[in-house]
This record gives sequence, C-alpha cells and structure tokens, in this order.
Amino acid sequence: MTFSGWLRRAGERPAHEPPPGPARVRASAGAVGLLTALLSCGTCHTPVRVDAASKIVRHGPDRTTHPLRVAEDTRAWVLEWDCPGCDSPSTFTLPKVLPG
Ligand SMILES: [Zn+2]
Repeated sequence: MTFSGWLRRAGERPAHEPPPGPARVRASAGAVGLLTALLSCGTCHTPVRVDAASKIVRHGPDRTTHPLRVAEDTRAWVLEWDCPGCDSPSTFTLPKVLPG
C-alpha cells in the first residue's frame, strides 16, 4: 500500500459511529450572571434558574430544586441538567467572565 493510501485508510471512520453522549438540548439564556443564569428550556421553554456554585436548578413558584451537573472548561462552566418541565436533557455553557 502507498503512504497516501495508508493515510486515507487511517482517516476513515466507521459509518455508524455513536454520537458522544446523549444529545442535549441547548437552553436559551435570559439574564446571565457570573455563576447563575436565568434560562428557558430549548424544548418546552420552562424557565429555570441555574446556580453553578450550589449545583442546583431552581424551578417554579416554590423554587423546587433539581440537581445540576457542572463541568469546568478553561473559559466557561458547562452545565447539564434534566428539564423539570419536560425531562429533556439540557445544557448551557456559562462563561466565567462576562463579555464586555
Ligand atoms: Zn423542558
């Protein structure tokens, strides 16, 4: 086999490669603070308040809490939770430093 043929073969990927993790719905941002944000679900538009410091999602008039998973990127917090309204796996990237 030629070298270029080997390179081409090395770059091939299986046709049905599974996606990395479950497909998450990106929430849309309302008011974004440094460690908190008011978001609405990308699917059902349920408003939620996420608190990255406490790792909780608050929802509804009685502020029911739900668990929030927080992963740290170099410039942002990557937040993941299950929507309290429709159970969609949701995600939002919260910048560590506010723009401007
Ligand atoms: Zn929802």
